[in-house]
Amino acid sequence: MFTLDMDTLKVGVIGLQGDVEEHISALGSAFTEYGVRGKASWVRREHDLASVDGLVIPGGESTTISKLLVKFDLRERVISMAGEGAPILGTCAGCVLLASEGDELVKRTGTELLSLMDMAVDRNAFGPQRESFEAPVAIEGLGEYPGVFIRAPLIRRVWGKCRVIGKIGRDNVLAVQRNILAASFHPELTGDSRFYRLFLDLF
Ligand code: GLN
Repeated sequence: MFTLDMDTLKVGVIGLQGDVEEHISALGSAFTEYGVRGKASWVRREHDLASVDGLVIPGGESTTISKLLVKFDLRERVISMAGEGAPILGTCAGCVLLASEGDELVKRTGTELLSLMDMAVDRNAFGPQRESFEAPVAIEGLGEYPGVFIRAPLIRRVWGKCRVIGKIGRDNVLAVQRNILAASFHPELTGDSRFYRLFLDLF
């Protein structure tokens, strides 16, 4: 468990592709806002994982990130860190990768899911007309949060230990399973740190 008087909390952001800097900077703001002695850094190689306490898998292109995780030998260690209880946040493409089941598009593109959460996702679920949009997400225990959706996935179904904690209308867009949090939207783009509090609470 992380406590405020522990050593610096180190969060790695998988930095192979996608919106990495945005997460690093949003985490920095959240550390300041919540008085956490923390450091967020890029993770590109397996040895970078040795020095972090938790991880963010950013948005980007899920097929590309899944292939790069294998190519750069990160995939197996990310899976074992999750099993050891390290907090992990996946956003948008990262949310897709955390799932155990994907739709036809995920299958057709040969995207290798990490299967860390008991959930099924539909990639690009909101259709071309709604490629990107903003909508308030009703988040359990937090209230309304400004959701930025960019070719976002939908959490179609959850089972087992996975629980939906955020929705827009009837659509599931945020889920948690023990130490793992998956958001189909982009909290790193809103300037509203409250979302990161949910993540920091997992440490
Ligand atoms: N639709 C993209 C994918 O699943 C994700 C988009 C995003 O991360 N902004 O690869």
